[in-house]
Amino acid sequence: MGKIQLRNVRKSFGDVHVIPGLDLDIEDGEFVVFVGPSGCGKSTLLRLIAGLEDTTSGTIEIDGKDATHLPPAKRGLAMVFQSYALYPHMTVRKNIAFPLKMAGMDKAEQDRRVERAASVLNLASYLDRRPGQLSGGQRQRVAIGRAIVREPQAFLFDEPLSNLDAALRVGMRQEISELHQSLKTTMIYVTHDQVEAMTMADKIVVLNAGNIEQVGSPLELYRNPKNTFVAGFIGSPK
Ligand code: ADP
Ligand code: MG
Repeated sequence: MGKIQLRNVRKSFGDVHVIPGLDLDIEDGEFVVFVGPSGCGKSTLLRLIAGLEDTTSGTIEIDGKDATHLPPAKRGLAMVFQSYALYPHMTVRKNIAFPLKMAGMDKAEQDRRVERAASVLNLASYLDRRPGQLSGGQRQRVAIGRAIVREPQAFLFDEPLSNLDAALRVGMRQEISELHQSLKTTMIYVTHDQVEAMTMADKIVVLNAGNIEQVGSPLELYRNPKNTFVAGFIGSPK
């Protein structure tokens, strides 16, 4: 289902080679975190996987099929945006159902999926409110709900918690991890926060100037960082 393979993927913007050439395997059901300093290409890599940017060269396979030239809507992936991307004039129910409505899904099936997502995310009693009547954490859950209803093969998160205050961030981190445990769907999560990476990931991909420095479990990277760049990022003693 949610297996993703990148082979020799390159991305340039004009003369700027943001991703010089990258191979990566993401297994079905894995929670993969892309970590690295600002400007190292995390968002670009996620957008390439989502299909929001075209690769300059190389191939992307999703679920064993070549997806390199598929439009975003045909990739079976759902990007979770920060909560400010919600529609303020729509109720929570309408915000969550929006992608299904756009896809022309039958109303009864829309309702069924919205109710189920709301129950998973503890939003059932908030469905008739508007985003302005919710807390920051609840709004972020609505943004996640909008991805869940599409029943994607993988969720793509780009620093989804960076707008929230520190206390809320800790709680949401836990909630996203629990969501992963219950859905068992592949998740790719971009952050520059090493604590998020260490606590949430099955596998961490450490990026530096568009190259992968090292890939491994949090424990592997902590115990055996390949170089001082990785060690510096992971916070281990090397
Ligand atoms: P990160 O998410 O790790 O902070 P990005 O993927 O956003 O990094 O950006 C990586 C590099 O690519 C940066 O130098 C950025 O300026 C450049 N970049 C990203 N998008 C574009 C674009 N549309 N046009 C030109 N340069 C871009
Ligand atoms: Mg970014």
